[in-house]
Amino acid sequence: MSKWPIGVFTSIDAGLGVHLDVAAELGVPSVQIHAPHQDTRNAEKAAEFLGKCSDANIIVTAVFGGFEGESYADIATTAATVGLVPEDTRAGRVQEMKEISDFTTHLGCDTVALHIGFVPEDRNSESYKSLIDCTRDLLDHVSANGQQLNLETGQESAEHLLEFIADVERDNLFINFDPANLILYGTDHPIDALHKVGHLVRSVHCKDATYAAVDGRGTAWGAEVPLGDGDVGMLTYLKVLDSFGYTGPLTIEREIAEDRDRQKADIGAAVSLLESLRDQIG
Ligand code: MG
Repeated sequence: MSKWPIGVFTSIDAGLGVHLDVAAELGVPSVQIHAPHQDTRNAEKAAEFLGKCSDANIIVTAVFGGFEGESYADIATTAATVGLVPEDTRAGRVQEMKEISDFTTHLGCDTVALHIGFVPEDRNSESYKSLIDCTRDLLDHVSANGQQLNLETGQESAEHLLEFIADVERDNLFINFDPANLILYGTDHPIDALHKVGHLVRSVHCKDATYAAVDGRGTAWGAEVPLGDGDVGMLTYLKVLDSFGYTGPLTIEREIAEDRDRQKADIGAAVSLLESLRDQIG
């Protein structure tokens, strides 16, 4: 794979990503996919999807887990419903994530990824310790499948993410860096955060956002906007990734599934922007 292949966040039948035909029409060489629903998570469906990818000269670079009951309606709802952190659903979701890892082997892909949720702040709390235990259990399963797990950024500061990864003590836990999420959640400045965690970044999202203007950081959602129109600073973002030796895919994410035409147009513009920045940086 050449340096920085463009990618698009895609879904088979679930999640906010575009469908594969959009990626194919845009001519991008790679996709990350949102894991399909449980009843279609099988070898037959995987082979069918891989066939379509192969026809379009697209490779799958990561499979993202997602779960029933998750809602990103606002920051409090996200904290209560997303990932492995909520304790009521944790055991079931760890099991489901293991199944997603198994499904990922059928796609010939070595990376699963996940919003783990808002990692509890107190490293001495039972909630934090039990999250460490279940993450280790998941990572051992993922490792047996020859895979790594990349955690999506956004719901905690760079420092706390580093603490958590260190506390888990496994060598297959890395980061999927999403610069816009840090703005959307008001958790950190994306470029500052990337400087801190760049050595652990193994996949990235190219997404942009503006900070919440009224309520300030950490209390209200920022706004997701087309790539290049927000507060990330795409040229700087790519230069910092370059400084860490990151050569993997640049996967575009545009989470406006309610307007498919605009989503496709914005992704097309993002492809052009990234290609020109890639040429500029070399
Ligand atoms: Mg993302």
